[in-house]
Amino acid sequence: MLACYDDIVPPRKDVPVYIAGPCSAESELQVLKTAEALSQKGVTLFRAGVWKPRTRPGHFEGVGIKGLKWLKRVQEEFGMEAITEVGTIQHIAATIDHGLKHAWLGARTTSSPFAVQEIAYSLSKSNLSIYVKNPVNPDINLWLGAVERLYRSGVRKLGAIHRGFSYYGEGRYRNMPMWQIALNFRQRVPGIQFICDNSHISGQADLLFSVAHTAMHLGYDGLMTEVHITPNNALSDARQQITPSMYLNMLSKVDRFLLMGSPIIREVQAETLQNELQTLEVEIADLKRCRSILKEVLNEKFIM
Ligand code: PEP
Ligand code: MN
Repeated sequence: MLACYDDIVPPRKDVPVYIAGPCSAESELQVLKTAEALSQKGVTLFRAGVWKPRTRPGHFEGVGIKGLKWLKRVQEEFGMEAITEVGTIQHIAATIDHGLKHAWLGARTTSSPFAVQEIAYSLSKSNLSIYVKNPVNPDINLWLGAVERLYRSGVRKLGAIHRGFSYYGEGRYRNMPMWQIALNFRQRVPGIQFICDNSHISGQADLLFSVAHTAMHLGYDGLMTEVHITPNNALSDARQQITPSMYLNMLSKVDRFLLMGSPIIREVQAETLQNELQTLEVEIADLKRCRSILKEVLNEKFIM
């Protein structure tokens, strides 16, 4: 186990890191139009996936390398650095070749130590900064392990992204935030830039602000949010994407919260706590249901 991560490049503390852009790069026009709108909104990094890790085949799997050319144009024309997801060493090479300086590891990649190890080796020879999303399942060690593998390979420009954890069944969130795991991770890797992906936690536009608000309340360094010029036409994650103007609205509420003082804050805090409470109540009800089913089975089949 590593004793410390002292020399990880620290996050900026003066301004929040706002990463925004579409789930996927779909066309040059969609990318450039979204980027143009976001470049006026103080966005730190422009995100777009060009290789999409779909859980099941047969869905949109990304446009591939040509999307990197569009991201290069974003950097040149709008002065925003771009970031994309990498999952293989070929992705890393292509990303660097197209002049990108940042990439993230998706939740499915973080779950695979073989993949992470290979990526770590390839990244050690580059200058790319890398954000590690939490794994799909609530296993803090997989997340810590991925960061540790990268660190041991010499990667120092490292950040982490909390995107929630999958669970079986229907719930309020697409991925459960399980804030306690994220906070525990952060304590174990102090000083790492820590971002909340409020889009993949929420899974729907309505929850984006309350998740963002909770994250900023907990002292996260910033947010990753999916923004699409026409969310209804998005080829992936359409339900959770918002327009640039909805994004601006969300950011201004977050910024107001960070500055404190506005009366809206109390309402918003109350709403966030109510959301958390409702989620816990659903979980408690589920657990109670499971308990009574187990009791019945035990009584009927084993205790005569
Ligand atoms: C994404 O950011 O679009 C994505 C696929 O995310 P995750 O790896 O968190 O599912
Ligand atoms: Mn997505």
